[in-house]
Amino acid sequence: MLDLLLRNARAENRSLSLLRSLCDDVGPRFPCTAGDVAAVAWAKEAMREAGLSNVRAEKAPATLWERGVESCMLRLPRLQPTVLSALGGSVGTPEQGLEAPVVMFTSLAELDAAPAELVSGRIVYLHHVMPRLRDGTGYNGGSVVRMSGPSRAAKKGAIACLVRSIGTDSMRAPHTGALFYEPDSPMIPAAALSTPDGDLLARALLAGKEVVSTLKLGCKPLPVGESANVIGELVGSERPEEVVLIGAHLDSWDLGTGALDDGAGCAIAIQVGRLLAALPQRPRRTVRIALFANEELGTGGGLAYASAYAKDAATHIAAFEADQGDGAPWALRLPAGNRESPLGVRLYQALAPLGLELDAGTSRGGVDIAPLRQLGVPFVDLRQDATRYFDFHHTANDLFENVSPEDLARVTEAFALTAHVIANAEERFIPATL
Ligand SMILES: [Zn+2]
Repeated sequence: MLDLLLRNARAENRSLSLLRSLCDDVGPRFPCTAGDVAAVAWAKEAMREAGLSNVRAEKAPATLWERGVESCMLRLPRLQPTVLSALGGSVGTPEQGLEAPVVMFTSLAELDAAPAELVSGRIVYLHHVMPRLRDGTGYNGGSVVRMSGPSRAAKKGAIACLVRSIGTDSMRAPHTGALFYEPDSPMIPAAALSTPDGDLLARALLAGKEVVSTLKLGCKPLPVGESANVIGELVGSERPEEVVLIGAHLDSWDLGTGALDDGAGCAIAIQVGRLLAALPQRPRRTVRIALFANEELGTGGGLAYASAYAKDAATHIAAFEADQGDGAPWALRLPAGNRESPLGVRLYQALAPLGLELDAGTSRGGVDIAPLRQLGVPFVDLRQDATRYFDFHHTANDLFENVSPEDLARVTEAFALTAHVIANAEERFIPATL
């Protein structure tokens, strides 16, 4: 059956055509925009067309925010206009903008250690250079700078915060992304400079120049709105109450068309459903595809799913998530204690012919399924090659043109095999012993 599944997967790259349709026909999918509404309709139709049943949209709260004008001029002292993008959730500047000297820190620790008089009344620039790594872990340190930098700068009296884009490219395409305002800090406007603009600013400051910046941001947070998780199922033939959950997120940032983040994951998940539905035998357990709402700014979809299905947590046999773009799969990471369990071994043996290694670490899941962890749901990670991913992530270049058809096909195969093995196995993962 696994051979047939692979043959079918290789016969036609349907993930690619699904992704092309999502990018071209729907486009950007920021919560509560026309694109978001269209995406929910698109996903329902695509799931039905793939042969899934119980297709439904389940309400999920969505954090709303509006982008406005964005400009930032550096006085180096020569005038240098920059290319920047407000961080998601940021408040705007006063309408006329603001102007202040810039003070740079290369890490949050350095900012935390600085005397308040060095920061007060200034614009803080956080110059964190994200490393390019196959496993994408450079993003962990980078996203913390973006998320919590603005509040930590505000605590010291900064009037605005700029970050070097959390990305690995050298293009003039800033990387947006959410920030998190701590409740006990003033909310200050924050934006990401494109990496070359950030580097230029850093060189000027390192050379000891006094740099003054103007900043105008028209963005504003809005009241909480509503979006929807789209769910479809292949109902199990023997144990329909037992669920293998495959997640991805349907929302995207506004700048590109969310081809890699996370259109690719949506296409992979739907195509896995189609491949399993096309087999002569239905999986024994239910395979549930969930395309979550509002991952990028607030995780509304993932949280809504966890609270709606908390009572069914014990019958979630496994959950895994596709949210690393089109990256080719290179490793399997299992729940703690399962590297030698019967299901762990079975899964690894199915994936090894695709070239996957068995990762020594413990599976972590992604942002959308993370709330299921405390409910005891076991996660499986298919680690994807993230070498190129952060060149495009959260930028205007997150477009269909930057998707690798071959890699997308390979990662779809790995997800399909994983779902098939877990949905048909006699055994479950061994629960973690704490
Ligand atoms: Zn994502």
